[in-house]
Amino acid sequence: MLIAQHQSQVPNTRETLEALPGVGRKTANVILNTAFGEATIAVDTHLFRLGNRIKLAPGKTVLEVEKQYLKTIPPAFMQDAHHLLILHGRYTCTAIKPKCAQCCIEDLCEYQAKEYAPPKPKQKTQP
Ligand code: SF4
Repeated sequence: MLIAQHQSQVPNTRETLEALPGVGRKTANVILNTAFGEATIAVDTHLFRLGNRIKLAPGKTVLEVEKQYLKTIPPAFMQDAHHLLILHGRYTCTAIKPKCAQCCIEDLCEYQAKEYAPPKPKQKTQP
């Protein structure tokens, strides 16, 4: 379809992107944001979890969370927000046992069930 209908170019509108096989709203948002610099954000499993957990973008559906992110994230950060949040969700604010003790936004986060590793047992000293 790209070759036959779009002169071998990736289209730059949501409607045209979503008409391509396998392209849904999330993929269209990634392309519009990353390739064309539009103020969109793709909500995957990490962004959905973080939006609700941190209260950055609470919502019951992916679309609700996406709309909340668009309201919350300042325009200057829209270009990289998707990638930064994915990395935060993948490596720090993980689905199971988030690494709250090592988290750079721990003081800002409103999550009520933060996870902290138990303190290390004291080493016995030799008599
Ligand atoms: S403090 Fe914990 S729950 Fe909050 S963002 Fe950081 S890792 Fe996630």
